[in-house]
Amino acid sequence: MTQQAALIHHPGRGGIWRKFLLPGRTINAAPWLDALAQHHPVGTCRDCGGYLKPGKPYRPAGSTRDWYPATCDTCKADTAAAGPSQRKKKRP
Ligand SMILES: [Zn+2]
Repeated sequence: MTQQAALIHHPGRGGIWRKFLLPGRTINAAPWLDALAQHHPVGTCRDCGGYLKPGKPYRPAGSTRDWYPATCDTCKADTAAAGPSQRKKKRP
């Protein structure tokens, strides 16, 4: 394991930044999409402390909420967080 000197962000304390979250730790869509458009990071990697770059939200089949993926710029670790529940449109 390589120790990088003096990282600003501490591994283990990373994750999606609070400004991109709503109470309940779901994603706040508006600032997320803003960051996506401007190629700004949305959090810090739990593994290496690198910046997490946002991805396009997607809706898994059968889900009532969107998922917001993010990828670490440094180690390429993937993470994803759920957005707020949407109104149910059609449910079998
Ligand atoms: Zn990383």
